[in-house]
Amino acid sequence: MTDSTDMDGGQTAASSSLNADGHVFPEFMGHVEFERELLDNYSNLICFCRCGTIEYVNAQGVCMLRAENADNLVGRPFGDFCDDEFGALFAQELDAFAHDDESILLKLQALDGAWIDVTMRIFRLDGRGSQADPVYMIECNDISQYIKTSELTRRREARIERILQTITEAIITADETGTIEDINPAAEKMFGVSKQAAVGQNVKIFMKAANDDALLRYFNTGDTAILGELREAEAVRADGTTFPVEITISEIDEGEGRRKFIGVMRDITVRKQQFDQIEFLAHHDALTGLPNRHLFDDRLTQALIVAGRRQSRLALMFIDLDKFKLINDTLGHEAGDIVLKSVAARLLDRVRASDTVARVGGDEFTVILDDVGAHENAAQIAQDIIATLTTPIEAGGDECNVGASIGIALYPEDADTASGLLACADETMYRVKAAGRNNFLFFNGQNDN
Ligand code: GH3
Ligand code: MG
Repeated sequence: MTDSTDMDGGQTAASSSLNADGHVFPEFMGHVEFERELLDNYSNLICFCRCGTIEYVNAQGVCMLRAENADNLVGRPFGDFCDDEFGALFAQELDAFAHDDESILLKLQALDGAWIDVTMRIFRLDGRGSQADPVYMIECNDISQYIKTSELTRRREARIERILQTITEAIITADETGTIEDINPAAEKMFGVSKQAAVGQNVKIFMKAANDDALLRYFNTGDTAILGELREAEAVRADGTTFPVEITISEIDEGEGRRKFIGVMRDITVRKQQFDQIEFLAHHDALTGLPNRHLFDDRLTQALIVAGRRQSRLALMFIDLDKFKLINDTLGHEAGDIVLKSVAARLLDRVRASDTVARVGGDEFTVILDDVGAHENAAQIAQDIIATLTTPIEAGGDECNVGASIGIALYPEDADTASGLLACADETMYRVKAAGRNNFLFFNGQNDN
């Protein structure tokens, strides 16, 4: 081995020698085997340049620039492998880069034309070469994979962000104390609050406390029973108005014992309204809006339970309009409908809000009088009903006269079940019809008329 390195900075002509294995190895490096081995095993590209020309490149450099061996690269200006922006600069001014502590981000072009993203650092090796002809060490770290991964991550985040921007569900992110960290545009719209105003506040501002014990329990105690479960809750807008939501909460483990949770809320006002409407139609008569037979049965059963508990008297009236068909036949079905609606309104007018008036058939109505007291009270109401119905009803420009036959059954005297009481009242109503109509009778025969 010949040591021709000019350690004192004197003029030394560029020279190189072939090692035993045929590797090009410049004189200035010193022919220390272990130094070469070290460089060849290094995971970054390392090359030594003089006057911008490559004099040595390590094994990783050969691999990175897709060369067959170092000979394909040695003797070529390093600038040949750099993108245009840096290529020209390298040809003249490596020294300027050597004083920069920061890595330079650039692209190298391999021999097969592929571009490789790298970070590069340049060191001036003051102990080697000469003052006028210094040696520079260039180190390049291949970051293509990293750039590719970050680009994919960036694209994925952008896609998630786009979804979050367009989604109609409110998405609220909070820390484990319930402090809001982020809300999406849908949440801003749903709750009538800006993101700036919401961030930093507790998520409780969005929830009606009384209606969501479980949610509050989660914040207060960390009880995770509600996580992942779809539940309904009453939400509160910034203006204090409330609306129903469907909510799912999921927890994210942030590591180091820190948790974050994401609440996804959907406004279910319309669905609820539709459901309520279906529910209403299932239990009410479409023409008059009164409870139908089904709801009446429920109400009577409930009323009997309450009356039994309170030991109070309940009266059930079964009302059938007299000669109602005649109205339909003479004035038309529509006039008949108007009369039925008017009868319903008059009946409601006459009873207490707590009493139930139902339409259980064509021209059949029932009235449940809770806690009616003495049977005379029921008689008085029956008389009033007959009086109010006898007052002519205007329908389609005509005056209609309707009468009503009313059968009254009392709890507990006549029956103690809903069906029993109804049968008594119904049977009594027929007795009134038979006796001449437009009157009332008690099941037990009393009539205080
Ligand atoms: P009665 O004095 O014996 O009770 O005779 P009525 O003419 O009142 O006849 P009834 O009670 O036997 O029959 C009730 C009629 O009410 C039968 C039907 O034509 C009519 N009706 C039933 N539902 C409706 C409805 O929704 N609208 C109208 N306009 N008429 C109805
Ligand atoms: Mg009738």
